[in-house]
Amino acid sequence: IVRFEKISKSFGELDVLKEVDLDLYPGERVAIIGPSGSGKTTMARLLMTLEEPTDGYIEVDGRQLWHKEVNGELVKANEKHLHEVRGDIGMVFQHFHLFPHMTVLKNLMEAPIKVKGQTKAKAREEALAMLEKVGMVDFADQYPARLSGGQQQRVAIARALVMHPKVMLFDEPTSALDPETVGEVLEVIKEIAKDREMAMMLITHEMSFARDIADRIAFFDEGKIQEQGPPAKLLNNPETERLGEFLNRFG
Ligand code: ATP
Repeated sequence: IVRFEKISKSFGELDVLKEVDLDLYPGERVAIIGPSGSGKTTMARLLMTLEEPTDGYIEVDGRQLWHKEVNGELVKANEKHLHEVRGDIGMVFQHFHLFPHMTVLKNLMEAPIKVKGQTKAKAREEALAMLEKVGMVDFADQYPARLSGGQQQRVAIARALVMHPKVMLFDEPTSALDPETVGEVLEVIKEIAKDREMAMMLITHEMSFARDIADRIAFFDEGKIQEQGPPAKLLNNPETERLGEFLNRFG
C-alpha cells in the first residue's frame, strides 16, 4: 500500500536519508525504531508530503506522491493530486494539534464535512461512534484544553480514523505524554490495530509496544534501514552490532 523506493533526503550538506527502500503491505503494522536523528520523522514527513524527497519516489496505493502519469509520461504533480493521495493517510503526531477553538465532537466532524462533503448528521454519527471506540464519548462537548494529554491524543487518533485512511501513521504518539497517560493511548492504538483493513506505520521508542503490535520492525540508523524483520527475531537476535547496542540502551 506504501512504497518508498530509493528515497534520499538532504537538508543542505546533511544527508538525512540515503536510498531507503521500505514497503508497507495492506493491513500490515510496521514499527520504526532507531536513535534520535536517524531520519525516522523525516520518513513520516515525506509520506505526509510535508517534505519533498531529494531523490527516489513514494507510492501510496499505486499512485506516486510527487509525480503523475500524463500520456505515459511522469510529470510533476499539482497540489490537487497531492491532496488526493494524502487523503489516504491518517496521521497522529507527538503533539496532538487539535483545533483549540472547537469542541471534541467538532474536531472530528470538521474534515469529513469539509473534505469529504459528508452531511452534518452523518459526520456527527460517525464521530460519536469513533469517540466511543477510543473511550472519549463522554467528552464530546468539551474543549481540548480541558483534557489531559492522553485524552487529547485519543481524540487526535479518533479524528484521523473518521477519515477512514488506508494507512495510519503514528509519529512517537506517546513521547509528549505524562507517564501515567502513556498506557491508555497505547491501549487505544492496540485496539484499533485489530482492524486489519488499515496499514499502520508506527515510529516509537516503546520497544515492548513495538514487540506487541508490529508484524515487522525496521531499525533506522544514519539514514538507512540497517535491519528489519519480525519483532521476535529482530529484538532477540539482532544481526548488526548497531542494533545490539541500541537495544542495550533502550530495549
Ligand atoms: P527523533 O527520534 O529525535 O525524532 P528522528 O530519527 O526522527 O529523530 P529526524 O527528525 O528525521 O530524526 O531528523 C534527522 C536529521 O535531519 C536531524 O539531524 C535533523 O536535525 C535534521 N533535519 C530534520 N528536518 C530538518 C530541516 N527541515 N532542516 C534541516 N535539518 C533537518
